[in-house]
Amino acid sequence: MSWTRRALLLVTGGAVGAWGAGRWGPQNPSLDGTTSIAPTGGADTLNDASGLSETPIHRRVILTDDPGEALAAKLRAEMANAVGEGRPVAVSAARHSMGGQAIPRDGHAITCDNGWIEPDTENGVYRVHAGARWSQVIAALDPLGFSPKVMQSNNDFGVGATFCVNAHGWPVPHGPMGATVRSFRMVNAQGEWITCSREENADLFRMSMGGYGLAGLLTDLTVEMVPNRRLVPSYEEMPGREVGRALAEAVADPDVDMAYGRVNVDRARLFEDGLLITYRPDADQSDLPPAAGSGWVSKASRHIYRAQLGNETVKRARWWTETDLGPLVGGGSVTRNSLINEPVVTLDDRDPARTDILHEYFVAPERFADFVAACQEVIPASYQEFLNVTLRYVAADPDSWLAYAPVPRIAAVMSFSQEMTARAEADMARMTQDLIERVIDIGGTYYLPYRPHATRGQFQRAYPRAREFVAEKRRIDPDLIFRNALWDRYLEAL
Ligand SMILES: Cc1cc2nc3c(=O)[nH]c(=O)nc-3n(C[C@H](O)[C@H](O)[C@H](O)COP(=O)(O)OP(=O)(O)OC[C@H]3O[C@@H](n4cnc5c(N)ncnc54)[C@H](O)[C@@H]3O)c2cc1C
Repeated sequence: MSWTRRALLLVTGGAVGAWGAGRWGPQNPSLDGTTSIAPTGGADTLNDASGLSETPIHRRVILTDDPGEALAAKLRAEMANAVGEGRPVAVSAARHSMGGQAIPRDGHAITCDNGWIEPDTENGVYRVHAGARWSQVIAALDPLGFSPKVMQSNNDFGVGATFCVNAHGWPVPHGPMGATVRSFRMVNAQGEWITCSREENADLFRMSMGGYGLAGLLTDLTVEMVPNRRLVPSYEEMPGREVGRALAEAVADPDVDMAYGRVNVDRARLFEDGLLITYRPDADQSDLPPAAGSGWVSKASRHIYRAQLGNETVKRARWWTETDLGPLVGGGSVTRNSLINEPVVTLDDRDPARTDILHEYFVAPERFADFVAACQEVIPASYQEFLNVTLRYVAADPDSWLAYAPVPRIAAVMSFSQEMTARAEADMARMTQDLIERVIDIGGTYYLPYRPHATRGQFQRAYPRAREFVAEKRRIDPDLIFRNALWDRYLEAL
């Protein structure tokens, strides 16, 4: 990627979001509104990317074994220890979920740190440790001329974790990442190390996809890959409300390999302006360069992204760089792997008094204009700093029980910068509930790895198979050994 292209993607937030990386701290709702709820970081607590999920744990374990009997035995031993004391177990990877979804309260918090990967170029798949990060996967596939078929827009996340939240990306026209998983092995609640696929233990496969680790502990997966390619972007400006439908139409073109949309975030014209960016293969596919890293340009771009905070003029200027400057200076070719090889830290705010909070909503392409109207009403009523929106296409997911895209959806990923205060937390909760309500009203859903502000009623309406999931979970895991904050907040009571 030319430096101009990469700089632009970062300045504009192109496909990338903006996020604060792992802070540590307590959430104390009894504090008065303006009191800081910034982290303190106890040794026996664990937090996540929000910095707002500090939770007491019993113990933290990091396992480095390759997927094999030794790893399964260590997971089993941890579970045996926990179940005897009635404590929960959960595995995490990068803990970029934002509501304790990877944290077992007073339990055994396990992290697998191992980048083992075995590509099978003949069959277009690779076997990979559940704890491997996408940066490790890209590093292994890129020299072979391959690329992950679907992953998030950043490369820090764990592959198993990605399956467990059933994340999506911006390669098109695919469904969520789970759609690209052929099989996996996991240790179930009985301590058996079993294989799950659409043919073998099919219910466990489908409960684990987007099941937040509540059905078992994954050790390794077999995942599809695609050829890496050199791609060229095209840009098309349009009214914001039309981007959803245009994105859905664009992905029907088999030549389009990656695509995303953007809308502006300045208050005066909120969501009025839109941009569709599509990537098609370059005619020249010879001598693909190695997947690029971020380098100094990303660090410089961070300042421009952050300058948007509280500054409507900069927000407007950033939109100009995206729509007018971008196509002029950033239209060069770039490989698929370079586009997705971006670390979260690139846009980190590094401000201990604030945290970046993501929201994500999924709506049918034909309801996208209604979604825009909802955002225009709800978001300005809060005082959160709105920094970015990226739109993606997600094909229907017929598999996972907790599916957010049972039919094709436009995904709207939104990034806000939030003060670390009780007042801001209350304001964010109110805005989130309002948005979720409006999205459910138009037949949409919201994404589960972010802040747990949805009411229990909203959760059940957005995920109608939740009761069935809980009933089966109680049958296969009667001691409720696999638990986390998602279970505690939304599922336990069902
Ligand atoms: C900056 C940023 C960008 C993002 N971009 C995207 C995006 O483009 N698309 C998208 O869909 N999402 C995106 N997300 C959301 C992201 O995909 C999830 O938060 C995901 O959980 C992050 O992976 P992780 O390694 O941090 O998982 P963790 O938070 O560590 O874990 C997530 C869940 O998986 C479970 N789990 C992890 N490993 C295992 C295992 N081996 N066995 C059983 N359970 C396990 C955990 O218990 C937990 O419930 C983004 C989030 C951030 C912060």
